[in-house]
Amino acid sequence: MTNYGLVIDQERCIGCQACAVSCKQENNVPMGQYWNRVLTEGGDKIDTPAGGYPEDGQEGSLDMKYQPTACQHCENAPCVKVCPVNATYTRDDGIVEIDYDKCIGCRYCMAACPYNARVFNWDEPEHMPEEGTGDVSARPQGVVEKCTFCSHRVDEGLDPACVVNCPADARIFGDLDEETSTVSKYIDKYETNQLLEDRGTNPKTHYIRGEMSPGRPQTSDKLESELDDVTPFSDGADDVPSDPDGSGGDGASGGHHSIDDDAVPHVPSVKSGGAD
Ligand code: SF4
Ligand code: SF4
Repeated sequence: MTNYGLVIDQERCIGCQACAVSCKQENNVPMGQYWNRVLTEGGDKIDTPAGGYPEDGQEGSLDMKYQPTACQHCENAPCVKVCPVNATYTRDDGIVEIDYDKCIGCRYCMAACPYNARVFNWDEPEHMPEEGTGDVSARPQGVVEKCTFCSHRVDEGLDPACVVNCPADARIFGDLDEETSTVSKYIDKYETNQLLEDRGTNPKTHYIRGEMSPGRPQTSDKLESELDDVTPFSDGADDVPSDPDGSGGDGASGGHHSIDDDAVPHVPSVKSGGAD
């Protein structure tokens, strides 16, 4: 059975917030609300690094990572369990959704979610521009809303908007139960972790961290299921970029992120429109 999940490669994420903005546009997310947030791991304040300058690689050198965070579409979702009117439910394909007509705004789900993934419309939601760019209706005052993995797009065979609009190819979406899918291959190949694994929620967003992923090739705006003809990764030493003379290379053959010759550049599939 299909079981959708997401891989986020933190070695690639550049903290540009394109995923957060495209999510707002695609899903008509109101002013002041985010379904997808990009957190920083580093210094004491937001967007500041830990460590000091300038010794690269020395103890105390600058260090900062980004952690995009949204609903994790937990396999064992506490929000689903606590909803007293079954407004929050899990689809057959594993996506956790909310029936906004059923939601009574009790916010039990917000209290139960350990990932702070849900937002509540305290007031009549404001939108700027008035409508988002995707085909998603605005939610009314008094309901809880959150990331849907862009289920309206998935139902049409498209990747979520955050995935196709990530300029760093840091996000991969696909079927976790299909062992030949790209997400399954990456989870098998690279060292990954899930957030708050000890809570028993079994989140379906997996994060790649550490030094495991620099050789991962650029993909494309194709569906991951269409990527079988794009070699997902090579087997050995070529995975780790080499720069013996310290010149930095030309960026095409020995650069930090090797680019597959067949890869197609990103073409955002969100229709043009104003920004939120
Ligand atoms: S769009 Fe990609 S690179 Fe930019 S913040 Fe989101 S995950 Fe990171
Ligand atoms: S991340 Fe939170 S809102 Fe999403 S499925 Fe898990 S418990 Fe529910």
